[in-house]
Amino acid sequence: MPASADVVVVGGGIVGLCVAHELRSRHLRVIVVERGRCGQGSTARATGGIRTQFGAEVNVRLSLRALVHFREWSDRYGGDVGYRPIGYLFLATTPSQVEQLRRGVALQRACGARNRLLDRDEIARCLPGAVLDDVLAGSFGPDDGLGDPGSATTSLVAACRRAGVEVREDTPMVDLELRGGRLEGVTTPEGSIAADVAVLATGAWTSPITRTLGLELPIEPHHRQVYRANAAPGVPGDCPLTVDLGSGVYFHPDGQGLIFGGGDREGEPGWDDRFHPEEAPRIIELLTRRLPGMTEAELSGGWAGLREMTPDDLGVVGPLPGIEGIHVAAGFSGHGFMHAPAVGEVVAAMLCGETPPLDVSALDPARFQRRLRPEAYVF
Ligand SMILES: Cc1cc2nc3c(=O)[nH]c(=O)nc-3n(C[C@H](O)[C@H](O)[C@H](O)COP(=O)(O)OP(=O)(O)OC[C@H]3O[C@@H](n4cnc5c(N)ncnc54)[C@H](O)[C@@H]3O)c2cc1C
Repeated sequence: MPASADVVVVGGGIVGLCVAHELRSRHLRVIVVERGRCGQGSTARATGGIRTQFGAEVNVRLSLRALVHFREWSDRYGGDVGYRPIGYLFLATTPSQVEQLRRGVALQRACGARNRLLDRDEIARCLPGAVLDDVLAGSFGPDDGLGDPGSATTSLVAACRRAGVEVREDTPMVDLELRGGRLEGVTTPEGSIAADVAVLATGAWTSPITRTLGLELPIEPHHRQVYRANAAPGVPGDCPLTVDLGSGVYFHPDGQGLIFGGGDREGEPGWDDRFHPEEAPRIIELLTRRLPGMTEAELSGGWAGLREMTPDDLGVVGPLPGIEGIHVAAGFSGHGFMHAPAVGEVVAAMLCGETPPLDVSALDPARFQRRLRPEAYVF
């Protein structure tokens, strides 16, 4: 008998898995098709940062909603997502950055976050080995921190299967079957899956798919590197994940070592996801200006991946205009790990005719004709 589902979720990254799990909790028949192994896309490359410090209200609210899931992970999904609230500390070195943090903290607190501004003395207590002469102020989110994307994927796949979602790995979606402007099914190499609804949770690979439907969605792949140093001289083990808005570089302790990255936002879009160690000296130079002790440390490794960036650095969530039955949940612009559980709730509510738990009109796929304001907290 040909396969059928109420909803086919295309893409088994953290977003697709969270969407599938939420849909199944509403008793829908759900099939996830993942062309490789679940989590093999950007999810596997994420550092696992979770933060409520954003300039766009929708991002703050998505993070706050998702935090509930990260805190209750083992009850909701089984397994351990490794949520560690080490905090995020943003450092401002110009008056306009101070203003950004001031406005940001006001917005974040109005949304329910416990974030606050820090003066230089308070920052010095967090970062005793750092050079801070140029730092004017900071902001701190005590519930921000880290999770483990690998464990998240493993537990979500298991939770989906336990709940009755059919998760098909090594199964690419090769075509979307349309008739009269409506979706009728999804084609895979093993045959068709009849469905009235498909959710494209295909991350950085979404635009090539919508282009086959004649729709341009500006989700662009951007190369991103993460570095690991073997030691972290002068960086306390309980130091928060620190983002230097001046240089764009961030760092956080990792066991005896340090994870760091950022500072490479201006690159052109492209599909290269290999690690280029030759780029490390430039980032290390920026890092050691702030953390002089790090000149004694050695680079011990790193990795790279693709971030799925949009012009306003906001995700794309909702129905594709002009075609009935195709929804998008992609383009989370480097925040998809932290937002995925909330996105799952939102998409499931939309597809089941419920009021979504938060207003996501800012993520509408049809918004790109308008003039957009970029998210301020991207690094
Ligand atoms: C270096 C790096 C660091 C990052 N750090 C963070 C961080 O600290 N915090 C954070 O929140 N985010 C971070 N991100 C971003 C985060 O990784 C992404 O936003 C998130 O993983 C997006 O999840 P996704 O499920 O939308 O996409 P993906 O994980 O990319 O999943 C999409 C899936 O779709 C599949 N697919 C594509 N086409 C098809 C098809 N035709 N048929 C079937 N399957 C298909 C792919 O194989 C892939 O598995 C980082 C990204 C990178 C690269």
